[in-house]
Amino acid sequence: MSKEHIETPNEETTKTNFIHQEIDADLQENKNGGQVLTRFPPEPNGYLHIGHAKSICLNFGLGKYYNGKTNLRFDDTNPVKEDTEYVDSIMEDVKWLGFNWNGEPHYTSDYFDQLYEWAVLLIKKGKAYVDDQTAEEIASQKGSPTFPGTESPHRNRSVEENLDLFERMKKGEFQNGERVLRAKIDMASPNMHLRDPLMYRIMHAHHHRTGDQWCIYPMYDFAHGQGDFVEGITHSICTLEFEVHRPLYEWFLNEITEGQPEPVAKPRQIEFARLNLNYTVMSKRKLLQLVNENYVSGWDDPRMPTISGLRRRGYTPASIRRFADEIGVAKRENVIDVSLLEHCVREDLNKKAPRVYAVLNPVKVVITNYPEGQVEWMEAINNPEDESMGSRTLPFSREIYIERDDFMENAPRKFFRMDIGREVRLKNAYIVKCESITKDENGEITEIQCTYDPDTKSGMEGSNRKVKGTLHWVSIEHSKTVQVKQYDRLFMDEAPDSHKDKEFLEFLNPNSLNVINSCYIEPNFMDAGANFEDGIARYQFQRLGYFCVDKDSTEENIIFNRTVGLRDSWSKKK
Ligand code: ATP
Ligand code: MG
Repeated sequence: MSKEHIETPNEETTKTNFIHQEIDADLQENKNGGQVLTRFPPEPNGYLHIGHAKSICLNFGLGKYYNGKTNLRFDDTNPVKEDTEYVDSIMEDVKWLGFNWNGEPHYTSDYFDQLYEWAVLLIKKGKAYVDDQTAEEIASQKGSPTFPGTESPHRNRSVEENLDLFERMKKGEFQNGERVLRAKIDMASPNMHLRDPLMYRIMHAHHHRTGDQWCIYPMYDFAHGQGDFVEGITHSICTLEFEVHRPLYEWFLNEITEGQPEPVAKPRQIEFARLNLNYTVMSKRKLLQLVNENYVSGWDDPRMPTISGLRRRGYTPASIRRFADEIGVAKRENVIDVSLLEHCVREDLNKKAPRVYAVLNPVKVVITNYPEGQVEWMEAINNPEDESMGSRTLPFSREIYIERDDFMENAPRKFFRMDIGREVRLKNAYIVKCESITKDENGEITEIQCTYDPDTKSGMEGSNRKVKGTLHWVSIEHSKTVQVKQYDRLFMDEAPDSHKDKEFLEFLNPNSLNVINSCYIEPNFMDAGANFEDGIARYQFQRLGYFCVDKDSTEENIIFNRTVGLRDSWSKKK
């Protein structure tokens, strides 16, 4: 992605949270020499989702707020699940959201040598040992929070034997799973994470960066805190489930820095509640399953909660940052209503997206007293919310399309649209009166006949006449045919992955994608100025909702994705 496509966050963030208070207190004590360095540490094993966006906005937001910096670090300790495709997509998504990381991206794999040395150091201190047991055996000895675990028979190996075995592990003398390196802490600790956790495992696997150099890989828990330490991260912000890991991270850091002259600057971990959103799933494993088993077209399917999916759906970076701001940061888990996310994009697009005319489900209207062959170019304002967006012209002619459901025969009085004998305004054109209709043998309306009042041309005095309904329309002869994809929620259940007896896939919405092949849009829609800074064109189709041009569009075949409808269920709730 090129630089000029990056929209920088410029809206004022007024909200601060409990993390700001913690950092303020640290700064007051002049910890870290008054510096703040945060990081966003994804594992490159999938595309980022809206939950990651919360973490990105938080971490980069803190960096910015304190005039500090934010590192991007790929926690790439599991070669089996990781891929450069994910690395690339993560960088693209962070940039698209409008954030710049400090210097070059970092990789935990850059620290593999250092981590190995630290592991050797722990062995030498008698604080780590090689265990020959299988993962199952080790797990069966864990005990429970109220019941102490069982010590491994290999726990008291000599330092020499441990050093020798660990080196042979590194050299590739053993098969996957044959041995592990464990920290020697306390098998009776009330914190299960301190019961001799694994530090290294054997994996004969190709790593996306280190290739075949290693066949032992550090566990996330042994790598993560040290990664922060190496980079000089001052505040390690992470989700609540890592609170119970914190004593272990501190134990590792204390052991490897023991004896160093004080003070040793160690990262301070602060936990916050992750984002949960209803009507979707956010586990990377489940998202990967949706992609691999073709329930969606890819990670960037517009129904996915991924950042790339939201982008393709038409979400703007500003709307996602706004959402992150609205939900705030707290210590307690809750579930956010997806209608808040929709509200945020609607508000942003209302300000920024030009209005154009498109008819998705057409019925033909003939204006019988309008001269055949005549065309008038009507002026239409691009965005009533923003005069600087100017206006464009659109052609009016004798034959137009309107939405099929904007006509109703024998309509009730409150139906402010078209029926025989009633007048409606065609926006930016004339007031017309429906005179008659034609139906086919199935009773389906094939044509509506209207007359227009030439004195009511838009902008002229006669146009001020009061009529109840205003409709959008397109001139048949001039309109462009486009494809429109409408989306509904991917899941029909509020919490598809919370059912004990049912798989999340059972709640997939069979009608989440609705493709309409022939929709009609005004010819000059491209003149309305819809190109956003990220290169995506976004529009409001009058009276219908917000739509964006899909990346698979060609000049002959333009595809629009519906972002959201116009009705705001969030504002109504408040
Ligand atoms: P996993 O570890 O299962 O692969 P993950 O969602 O934790 O998945 P990471 O790549 O480790 O993925 O996440 C990177 C960062 O994003 C972490 O700091 C994590 O805490 C944060 N994060 C992940 N999911 C959410 C969420 N739903 N809300 C807020 N932050 C999140
Ligand atoms: Mg994680």
